[in-house]
Amino acid sequence: MLKLFCKFCGLYLDMAVSWYDAELIGQKVEATGINRFWFQIKSDVPLSYDPGQFFTLDLPIGEKRIDRWRSYTIANQFDGSNIVEFIISYKKNGLASEYFFNEINKGDTVKLKGPEGTFVLPKAKDQRIVMLAAGTGIAPFRAMLQELSSQGHSYPSIDLYFGTKTEKTILYLEELEDWAHFVERLTIHVCFSRESKIPKTKSKLNYHLGYIHPVYLSQQKAASKNTQYLICGWSAMIDESVAHLMNTMKVSREQIRYELFG
Ligand SMILES: Cc1cc2nc3c(=O)[nH]c(=O)nc-3n(C[C@H](O)[C@H](O)[C@H](O)COP(=O)(O)OP(=O)(O)OC[C@H]3O[C@@H](n4cnc5c(N)ncnc54)[C@H](O)[C@@H]3O)c2cc1C
Repeated sequence: MLKLFCKFCGLYLDMAVSWYDAELIGQKVEATGINRFWFQIKSDVPLSYDPGQFFTLDLPIGEKRIDRWRSYTIANQFDGSNIVEFIISYKKNGLASEYFFNEINKGDTVKLKGPEGTFVLPKAKDQRIVMLAAGTGIAPFRAMLQELSSQGHSYPSIDLYFGTKTEKTILYLEELEDWAHFVERLTIHVCFSRESKIPKTKSKLNYHLGYIHPVYLSQQKAASKNTQYLICGWSAMIDESVAHLMNTMKVSREQIRYELFG
């Protein structure tokens, strides 16, 4: 049973979990081993969600329910269309990976439940935002930046540090470029773990060699109380980021939120 907090009565209410049919309406290669997938959710009413939330999909990849469920962060902002985008990386021999990259076809339907999750932008608009992402960990930040770029924002600053292998694997490159040009007080850093030289391409993005950690450590310097650090990716990257923020920058645990992919 799902429990939802009712802000009007101040109580947690039991909610029956609803599953929806979702039809794959398109997919596109975004980089080698990373595809974008668009699903049309079959619901008469718009399924509202906040950027940063995720859905859990029941995939035809196992007998037991626990073996079939995989969660994916919604990579697009809510627009009332019930079309959700996921950006998924291929993991060799991963059951869901094999399904998404070698089996699913346009028109196929899966079941999904949600939206769930509390990895969302802070309500307090006086907070500086620092986003740390690696690979498909960009998904929640893409949805957040999509919304902030279309609606405007009043945060004092937003700094995105995005770790990727090479220039060819920068996800949502065109959008990041656009946003770096026109979203107020937004700075984007892209860190290449497998390039030996900074790409020569003219860009409004700040390029760096290596992992993201030395970059945000040198730029963010001391901890400031009015900063929220949002981290998304796989466990090694999240563990390292949290350790650097807390031990080196002396950021307090309450200022750090993360979404762990696995
Ligand atoms: C809240 C939430 C949101 C998520 N959002 C996304 C998303 O937006 N995009 C996305 O690609 N995945 C996302 N994931 C991960 C996703 O749910 C699956 O775990 C992933 O697709 C691998 O499933 P699989 O069946 O192919 O591999 P499995 O057989 O389940 O994987 C086996 C092991 O490999 C690890 N692993 C899998 N893929 C990787 C990888 N690329 N790098 C490092 N370790 C890995 C897993 O943690 C697991 O321990 C999310 C997970 C959670 C919990």
